[in-house]
Amino acid sequence: MSSIHILSDRVANQIAAGEVIERPVAVVKELVENSLDAGATQIEVEFRNGGKSYIRITDNGKGMSPDESLLCLERHATSKIREAADLNEVCSFGFRGEALPSIASVSKFTLRTRSKEWEHGTEIFINGGKMIEKKDCGMPVGTVIEVAHLFNSVPARRKFLKTDPTETAHITYNCRLFAVAHPNVAFRVLENGRTVFQSPACENLRDRIAEIWGRNLADDLIPVDVSDPKTGFRLRGLTAKPGVGRSTRRELVTLVNRRPVDSRTLSLAVLDAYHGRIQKGRYPPAFLFLEIQPQEVDVNVHPAKREVRFRDDGAIRRFVLNAITETLAASRADNIAQAVTQIPLAADVKIETPASLAAKVPGIEKPKVAILPSSPIYPAVSKATHTNAIGTAPQAVAPTLDVSPSPATPQTTPDWRLIIVLKKRYALFDTPRGLVMLHLRHADQRVRFERISKEFKNDKATSQRLLIPHPIEFEPLASAALKSQLQQLNAQGFQVEEFGRNFYRIEAVPTWLSPEQAEPFIRDLVDLIRQRGGMRKPNALDSDVIARLAVEGSYRRSDSLTDQAVEQLAKDLLSCDTPHTSPFGRPTFSEVSWNEWERRFGSD
Ligand code: ADP
Ligand code: MG
Repeated sequence: MSSIHILSDRVANQIAAGEVIERPVAVVKELVENSLDAGATQIEVEFRNGGKSYIRITDNGKGMSPDESLLCLERHATSKIREAADLNEVCSFGFRGEALPSIASVSKFTLRTRSKEWEHGTEIFINGGKMIEKKDCGMPVGTVIEVAHLFNSVPARRKFLKTDPTETAHITYNCRLFAVAHPNVAFRVLENGRTVFQSPACENLRDRIAEIWGRNLADDLIPVDVSDPKTGFRLRGLTAKPGVGRSTRRELVTLVNRRPVDSRTLSLAVLDAYHGRIQKGRYPPAFLFLEIQPQEVDVNVHPAKREVRFRDDGAIRRFVLNAITETLAASRADNIAQAVTQIPLAADVKIETPASLAAKVPGIEKPKVAILPSSPIYPAVSKATHTNAIGTAPQAVAPTLDVSPSPATPQTTPDWRLIIVLKKRYALFDTPRGLVMLHLRHADQRVRFERISKEFKNDKATSQRLLIPHPIEFEPLASAALKSQLQQLNAQGFQVEEFGRNFYRIEAVPTWLSPEQAEPFIRDLVDLIRQRGGMRKPNALDSDVIARLAVEGSYRRSDSLTDQAVEQLAKDLLSCDTPHTSPFGRPTFSEVSWNEWERRFGSD
């Protein structure tokens, strides 16, 4: 009964489609890559319902002749390689010649295209892989591809698609990556008829990032440009200033030969370079372009081509690690040199350095270096420097422990006597029961956590108004996340107002939050809402969540504490409801009783 036969092209395409295009974002990627390969300088991406019901990509690239427009829909039709050997040198994004026929086999597909040699364009309509119509049409030079009802004919695949917001998030994120990878191409992205983002062609990468991720992020980055003449590797782009960390890796973007990639090798090298320069568990924002010979990298690992394999992993890793380490060291040296010669400026004043590093980089401008306090990681800022005006001070600028006794804290337990502070982390106490070692940070976290929680419970979240309202800008999804929880947030001592699409103004913060922490705090909060998928829950921000975030590591630093402050901290801790652990479950102190000492030494 059964006999071996060759699959029809249509079936083969549908099978290939499953591999090449797993979800709407893959369609967008293939089509945008084709537009880029066609030399487009303007690309518009429009989609509806997370791309499931409709995707349209319009470009002003070189377009296709009537013959080419038919040919491009054949399997393995590509204008980009001829021989297998060419694979080692592909510089274009696509080369398999699979994308268009695959997409056309699982959707209602319309191609309109015109090359400059032709007076008219060609329009082809395909439904589920079957050509329905081909005709001439009037249009400017370029290509428009519409993909409707994706996977309608393949219910098994449709089932695996996520919700519209999730698919939307993937599409917009990937379009952002394209925009970053190609600053000189104008992009516009529309979802359900509404512009998600648009950016004209930009002079340089920093402007592009400012357009797409917001000026604040762009200002937190310093230029990188390092090449190794021996290997021919070059790393350029923008990377986080020391101390600038984010709670997700979304803004740690690595590209290999302008293709955004997921590479463990690269991200580990970057994280390594920031080791000790940002808090554990946080990620440096960075946009890093690695340029290497095409034969050094295999982009052919996965049809969706997001993962890459390097010929020499170790060499790449060492190169990237060194490149960033050097850059960070140089920027720090610059900072110090500047700080010595300049009278202290307000935190948000940026000055131009003599272009030590990046002057040679076309497309990436000279480094702008902000004067930061000398230790950029955990600077101990004295209480006296607190002001209500906040600039774009990076997250690292943290106030010292807030040790002022809260009115709610009874001044009990005078019987812990401080002996000494050790390693800036511990304090040893002589107490009636024994020797107590206090962990300063854990203790501080507990004290502040309970203070904040009490404020919430008593519904008396007291606010402090900022002298100058602080503007803060988000990318659209983050903005949506914040918006969904704004009321909740404002009920808890914040006053954050929307004043334009994706723009907000922080007008007041709760008294427990120092004003210069307002922006990093809200950014972290937004990340948290997104991680928890909280946009759909009206009360994603319960007080516990906020309080815990408020006392997480980055905000306070327990060095430069006076003895008095340490003693006060111990008192405050002992009047807490749960003094023995930090809000994250770590011990706050550990005791060795006098009995235990006696047992150890023998009581004679
Ligand atoms: P590949 O990109 O791997 O070559 P595709 O199926 O994505 O395969 O595209 C097939 C061919 O169609 C391309 O090689 C190119 O010649 C042509 N093509 C596709 N999209 C465009 C476009 N937007 N503008 C001009 N030509 C295009
Ligand atoms: Mg392609």
